[in-house]
Amino acid sequence: MSRIRFRVSGTVQGVGFRPFVYRHAVASGLSGFVRNDSDGVLIEVEGPADRIDALARAIVEDLPPLARVTELIRAEIEPLDEAGFRITESDGVGVPRVPVSSDSATCAECLAEIEDPGDRRYRYPFTNCTNCGPRYTIVRSVPYDRPTTTMAAFTMCGECQAEYDDPADRRFHAQPNACPACGPRVRFGDLVGDPALVAAVDALAQGAIVGVKGIGGYHLAAVVGAVPELRRRKRRDEKPFAVMVPDLASARSLVETDAAAEVALTAPSRPIVIAPARADLPGVAPGLRELGVFLPYSPLHHLLLRGVGQPLVMTSGNVSDEPIAHEDDDAVERLGALVDGLLTHDRPIHVRCDDSVVRGNRVLRRSRGLAPEPVRLPMRALRPILAVGAELKNTIAVAKDRGAVASHHIGDLEHLATYRSFTQAVTHLCGLYGVVPGVVACDLHPEYLSTKFAQELDLPLVAVQHHHAHVASCMVEHGRVEPVLGLAFDGLGYGTDGGLWGGEFLVADYRGAQRVGHLAEIVLPGGTAAIREPWRMALAWAARAVGPDEAVTQVADERAGSLVALLDHGPTTTSMGRLFDAVAALLGIRSRVSYEGQAAMELEAVAADDAGRQYPITVEGAVIDPTPLIAAILEDRKRGVDVATISAGFHASIGSAAAAFAAELAEARGLDAVVLTGGVFQNRRLAQVVESSLRGAGLEVLTHRLIPANDGGISIGQIAVAAAAPAA
Ligand code: ZN
Ligand code: ZN
Ligand code: FE
Repeated sequence: MSRIRFRVSGTVQGVGFRPFVYRHAVASGLSGFVRNDSDGVLIEVEGPADRIDALARAIVEDLPPLARVTELIRAEIEPLDEAGFRITESDGVGVPRVPVSSDSATCAECLAEIEDPGDRRYRYPFTNCTNCGPRYTIVRSVPYDRPTTTMAAFTMCGECQAEYDDPADRRFHAQPNACPACGPRVRFGDLVGDPALVAAVDALAQGAIVGVKGIGGYHLAAVVGAVPELRRRKRRDEKPFAVMVPDLASARSLVETDAAAEVALTAPSRPIVIAPARADLPGVAPGLRELGVFLPYSPLHHLLLRGVGQPLVMTSGNVSDEPIAHEDDDAVERLGALVDGLLTHDRPIHVRCDDSVVRGNRVLRRSRGLAPEPVRLPMRALRPILAVGAELKNTIAVAKDRGAVASHHIGDLEHLATYRSFTQAVTHLCGLYGVVPGVVACDLHPEYLSTKFAQELDLPLVAVQHHHAHVASCMVEHGRVEPVLGLAFDGLGYGTDGGLWGGEFLVADYRGAQRVGHLAEIVLPGGTAAIREPWRMALAWAARAVGPDEAVTQVADERAGSLVALLDHGPTTTSMGRLFDAVAALLGIRSRVSYEGQAAMELEAVAADDAGRQYPITVEGAVIDPTPLIAAILEDRKRGVDVATISAGFHASIGSAAAAFAAELAEARGLDAVVLTGGVFQNRRLAQVVESSLRGAGLEVLTHRLIPANDGGISIGQIAVAAAAPAA
């Protein structure tokens, strides 16, 4: 028997790390404890040495998807001969590095109370404790204390106060502590409290669409059978909806889950987890082979799911792409006409927070449950920095010294309401972290609203090229300091030459980026209209590959003939995302989109399992040119080759050509690591091909896990570039 003390550093708090250690230790019959402290996590385990070694391996190899271990220090100590393993509270020593944690799903103990008819919190939708409950979304200012939260208006009853004051109680200093006697209450029409909940459950079960006020905003909830009506009212034709299910077993019946997906599903952050669909839920995720599922994260959601007895589609409470409603008056105004009833409550939401989205162990949208996310910078920020992010999927970030914090997902700034939410977030985040910016970082794009905002601040400005920021964000995630070759593939970003880039090969570190390669430049017919209408990109690429006359016959839009004359004019792009759009349209999969990335996602979804055939792609100098690939695909179409085979071949060909080009560039420049970044790398098929070919060429491949590969990660990249800039 031996006893080992492990000191674990990295992202190990609030990511399900302690329960992970707990489960492992209990399963292997080890005794001891695990707890958070100011440096990370402290574990002491006692038992046979081989079982302790197995635990140590698990910590490194099987850790939860949102966790990251940067250091594991092991020391042998005196055995205590104690029984059992427990999760203990933090020792309270040291200053926490983050004043406010993220919102956390209802813990098992609170859930047991809600289910116990003898408990005073039986069926109480706002039950929480120090281990769970709302945090970031209810905090108005610091220090984090009840009066600075949206719970300030509720005075604790005697029993709640006694819990709050008792160091031995699970609710010791639990700021949102509440019970049916003293806390917030739900309302549905004229009904208040449990009758309101019962009535809302009945309405949902009968197929009604109900607006539900949750943790970070309002959802529109409905049973799967009501989806056609929900789509009609929401005017969101095809965007996939996420489905909330009561437990892991139900999730398994809807999607194929692997270990990473199951850990994410049950993590305290309770993100939407995207996984291969197992069941066909009509109209929920049209044209896709994947489905987003998530588990209840507040007592209210648990009670709703249990009551209705079937999965609930839960989509953001908004019309099309507006921001999610989070204030009650606004919800009535904007959602009133969409819903048959509103299940609301009187605990205000201070910060609007959409659901987070995860696929495998990669975060696609960092928001409720994951934000605010502290990130360690590989350099010191000499002056406090504010980074305002990009335009779409906007997030902001602040930094001082070596610590940075990224905000929740704010959204697409082109909507006025989202822009307002952006300016509030700037004030709020700076306030929470005591950052008075001495420098502001923004995108190079002069027309982004975030850029214009930054310019008006009257502070030293660091404008960061979009794809440089993408690469830097991935480097930060890996603590990488040495230069890398960055592959930044996305929709569109403003280049240093004023062009619209998006298929970029950059030699980069934090101080600068040099464009050493790019996708062939092509016209963007109709400018931004080409983003919504992939047939335009199809026309441009086909015209180059087989000539304009032939191209017109290949494109399913009656305007092709008149547009073809304009292909010599207008803005051009090197965007990889637009190439995917073009191929999707040429294959007849989608000629116009109703949400960003739709064409590429559907193109990936139809691809056959095998690699398909290899299409030719040329490289000349710094340019990788898919023109021959387009010609060959059109030829295959004529010969009647099926779309699944062509799509598979397209992914394999563009992926291996990009990887081969990258390997050549890396070798020529003496670089040993390649970063894969930008929204296009959310395409798993492409990412797998590129990653495995690069690894095969002996290169280190850095990819995104915690910081999104899409524009949600831009603010952290901007922070790092600004911190390294001479101006800062
Ligand atoms: Zn709890
Ligand atoms: Zn109470
Ligand atoms: Fe981008």
